[in-house]
Amino acid sequence: MIDACSPESRSLLSIDDALDRIKAAVNPVNSTVKASLKNALGRVLAEAVYSPINIPHDRNAAMDGYAFASRDMAGGQAFMLVVTGTSWAGRPFEGQLQPGQCVRIFTGAVVPEQADSVIMQEHVQVQGQTIHFPADTRAQQNIRQIGEDVKQGACLIAEPKKLTAVDLGLLASAGIDEVIVKRQLKIAHFSTGDELTALGLPLQPGKIYDSNRTMLGGLLADPGYSVVDLGVIPDNKQLLENSFIEASLNYDVIITTGGASVGEADYVKEILQSCGEVNFWKIAIKPGKPLAFGKIGQCYFFGLPGNPVAVVVTFHQIVAPALRQLSGAPLSKPLRFTATCTSVLKKAPGRQEYQRGILSQDQRGEFFVASAGQQGSHILSSMSQSGCYIVLPEECNGVQAGDKVTVEPFSLFV
Ligand code: AMP
Ligand code: MG
Repeated sequence: MIDACSPESRSLLSIDDALDRIKAAVNPVNSTVKASLKNALGRVLAEAVYSPINIPHDRNAAMDGYAFASRDMAGGQAFMLVVTGTSWAGRPFEGQLQPGQCVRIFTGAVVPEQADSVIMQEHVQVQGQTIHFPADTRAQQNIRQIGEDVKQGACLIAEPKKLTAVDLGLLASAGIDEVIVKRQLKIAHFSTGDELTALGLPLQPGKIYDSNRTMLGGLLADPGYSVVDLGVIPDNKQLLENSFIEASLNYDVIITTGGASVGEADYVKEILQSCGEVNFWKIAIKPGKPLAFGKIGQCYFFGLPGNPVAVVVTFHQIVAPALRQLSGAPLSKPLRFTATCTSVLKKAPGRQEYQRGILSQDQRGEFFVASAGQQGSHILSSMSQSGCYIVLPEECNGVQAGDKVTVEPFSLFV
């Protein structure tokens, strides 16, 4: 526990200051590559895209029904028109619409030039070739106008943007099959620690399986990143230093877990200091206090704590925004909102805490959050069962059931 006024607490950097320092220190990648639309999901758009065509390209029907000219309407009375042909989606009606005529039309089909209205098929009565229009028929309805979605020459998507499936759909609707995106950010990650055992091997006394490496692989899965898992490095200063230096020559970012604290075998910060530069080390968050950020040559370095929950928290709160910025994506903030806490939460002032919670919503739409259980930074099981962070500010000294708290969901589904 840290007293808010203790020398240690005062030496810790607040999370906002840490994020500001990162923001000021990192330079986004600036080289670009062409990507086919098929490979562009999640990539960062580097050049704005303009539409070469109007979308829609033609006036077309928004409904299945009948296209007609409003000049044939009977001034508020029911009226009849004769069907003279059909306009199918992809196969327009090729004739001329004469006075007194209408055209059978389907959704997406081109509206004949002389028509300015479409009526839903459910609103008419069909008698052979004669269509009976009701008195309340409205003019100028159910037609999608040329360019009403996007005008020819208008900006479809401005840069920078991390392309979503919807963006790809929009680009495809303009016939664009290639975009200019930022090159991938090259990321290498290691685990450090003598106790770590690779999956598939039996556990010897005192050893543990390496969960961080697999987890980081998952956290880093992003089309904007090319990620290389460089394995486990034992707690050996020389080996660590050699690995860091070599990786710094080949990657934009190195992420390590473990060895960043103050134990006898915690060499990460010391090595960063000797072969690069430390921007900050230790931040006022829980879990995740020992976090070293700096640079080795041109390579950014994140030395995360060893405890798995601390790895995830520091990744989400510190590393992820930094990587987004480095990859050239626009900065964004996590979605946070207020929920009523149904558990008692223990907390000492001094550090911002990211406790793990289970979020629910009642029938009226109000949000509630319960503690996910054990909050130790090694308790991955309760984090696996949780769906959100309960974000408790530095000065908070505990929460009573019924108090309002800030929550940050891990995803948009509860
Ligand atoms: P350290 O920061 O190296 O002192 O590690 C803190 C705690 O995290 C220790 O209990 C380590 O055994 C554990 N730890 C470190 N690295 C890993 C890893 N890759 N997977 C699981 N636990 C780890
Ligand atoms: Mg260690």
